[in-house]
Amino acid sequence: MKAVRGTRDLLPPETELWNRIETTARQVFARYNFGEIRTPIFEDTALFARSVGEETDIVEKEMYTWEDGERFEKSLLISRWSLANRERFGTIEDNSPSGAVPIDLECEDLDGNFELVLFGAKPSKRSVDVLASAVSDKRALLTQLQSDKDVTGRHVFASPVPGVPEETTPEGVLLEAFHGNFFKSSQSLTLRPENTAGVVRAYIEHGLGESGQLQKLYYIGPQFRRERPQKGRYRQFWQIGAEVIGPPSSGSESPLRDAEVLEMLATLLEDLGIAGWTLELNSVGSAADRAKYNDVLRAALVDVAPKMCGDCQRRAVTNPLRVLDCKVPEDQPIIEGLPKIGDSLGDDSKQHFAQVTAALDTAGVPYTLNQRLVRGLDYYTRTTFEFTHGGLGAQNALLGGGRYDGLSEAIGGPKAPGIGFAMGLDRLVLTLQAQEATQAAAPAAKADAYIAPIGESLNAAALVLARELRRAGLRIELGDGSFRLKKSFEAADKTARRIVILGEDEHQSGILTVKDFISGKQTKVPRAELAANLARPAGE
Ligand code: AMP
Repeated sequence: MKAVRGTRDLLPPETELWNRIETTARQVFARYNFGEIRTPIFEDTALFARSVGEETDIVEKEMYTWEDGERFEKSLLISRWSLANRERFGTIEDNSPSGAVPIDLECEDLDGNFELVLFGAKPSKRSVDVLASAVSDKRALLTQLQSDKDVTGRHVFASPVPGVPEETTPEGVLLEAFHGNFFKSSQSLTLRPENTAGVVRAYIEHGLGESGQLQKLYYIGPQFRRERPQKGRYRQFWQIGAEVIGPPSSGSESPLRDAEVLEMLATLLEDLGIAGWTLELNSVGSAADRAKYNDVLRAALVDVAPKMCGDCQRRAVTNPLRVLDCKVPEDQPIIEGLPKIGDSLGDDSKQHFAQVTAALDTAGVPYTLNQRLVRGLDYYTRTTFEFTHGGLGAQNALLGGGRYDGLSEAIGGPKAPGIGFAMGLDRLVLTLQAQEATQAAAPAAKADAYIAPIGESLNAAALVLARELRRAGLRIELGDGSFRLKKSFEAADKTARRIVILGEDEHQSGILTVKDFISGKQTKVPRAELAANLARPAGE
C-alpha cells in the first residue's frame, strides 16, 4: 500500500523544518496579538459553494465531497403505502406512537377483517416477531369478543426495485416490498479546500462580532483540493493563515488593517529567513465595482473570446474576471489588451487603496502593482495580494489573500468586513530547503549521548540513567544490552555526539565511561556530574 497520489508522509528530519516554521509563525502572530482558531476539517458543502463561489475551479472540480449517510424516511413510506391501499380498507388508523400494540397502522377492510401493518427500511427477525405477537394479541381480543373476523400481519419495507412478489414468513406474517426511494441523503459534506469560509462560519456561529471588538484569528492545518499533483502542488497541503474580521464599528474596514496584515507578512517571511519575495498588490473594488467591471469585461470579451482557450471561452460567459487568471501563453497578449479593473473602481475604493499603499510606503514594505491579480475566489473585495517567490518554479505563489467585506453576509451572517491570507506551508518548506541547499547544508541534529548497556541485565538500569539525563533536559538515545560493543559504537556514532558505557563495573562504582566522538577522547565521569558533562558542546 502507498500514500494516495497527491498526499505524502512527512518524515524526520524534514519535520523539524516544518515545526520551526510553525513555531516562528506562532511567535509572530502572538506579537501582533492574534489568537489561534481550529475549525473542523470537513464542513457542509453549501458553505464552500456559497463563499468560495460556484463558478470557481475549487468548487467546480477540486472538492472532496461525499454524501454522509442515508436516512430512512418512514413517514413517507407510510403515506405512500396508505394512498396505494386506501381502496382496500374502510379505516386506516395510525397506531403509533401511542397505540397499545407497537405497530404503525391498524386497518379494517370492507368485510371487517383486520390488517396490522408495520413499516421499516428492511425486515428483521425482531420486527417480524413484534408483528406476529401483535397479531396474536389482536386475535385473542377478537375471540374474547366472540368475533369471527380475521387478523393478518403485514410487514412493508422499502424496495429499490419494482415487482418483488409478496412472501409469507414461517410466523405467518406477509412481507411486502414496496417500490420507491424512501432514503434521503442526510447531508453533503466536503473536506475543506481552504479555511477562510470555516473561520467566518465560526465567527457567525459563536457571535464573535457581538463583543464589538476586532477578531484576529490564525490557523495552521491541512486543506484538500483535487488538483493535478506536481512539485509544490498537492492534494493534501498545509496552510498557515489569519483573518482580521469584525463589525464595521471595530475598524475592520480601515485601510490600516490591510497595511498591518501586509507588514506582518513581510516580518514573518523575514523571521523565517525567506529572502527574495515579491508582494503583488491590486484592488478589485467593492462588490458594485466588481459587478461593473464584470460587465465591461464581458462586453470586451465578446469579440476576442472565440480566439482564446476553451476555459476562457467558458469564463467569458460565466465569470469573466477569471479570464485574468488564465496562464495559457497564447492568450496573454489578448488579456493584456482587455480593459483594466483600476478604471472601474469607484472613488471610495480608489481612496481606500491609496491609503493602503501610502501606509506600506511609509513602513517601507515594497510591492508591485498588478491589475490582473483578481484571485480565483469569489469573495474578494478591494485589496487583493499575493507573495510570490522565484525559486518555486511554476507554482510560484507563497501565499495569497485579500479583503472579503461581503462574505459574512453571503453565508447568512451580520455585516463583518474582513481581510485575511493563507500561505502554503509546503511551499515555505520548499523555498527554505532550496535556500539551505545553496548555503552550507546544516548537519542533522544529533543526540547529546547514546547510552550503551553492556549485557541485557543492565537494560533496566540504562533506562533509569536515560530517564535521569532526559529529565535534566538532555537529548538521549538509548541502546540495548543485547548489542555487542562494536554494534553499540556504530549505532552511537550515527545518532549521537557521545557514547556513555554502562557495564557492570560502571553500574557498581557509579563512575561512567564516556567517549566523545568529535575529540576521540574517552573519560571517566561520576554519575552526579554526568548531566553537566554531557551538556557541554562535544569536542571540548
Ligand atoms: P489560494 O487561496 O488558492 O491562493 O491558496 C493560498 C496558498 O496556499 C497558495 O499561495 C499556496 O501557497 C498554497 N496552496 C494552494 N493550493 C495548494 C496546493 N494544491 N498545494 C500546495 N500549496 C497550495
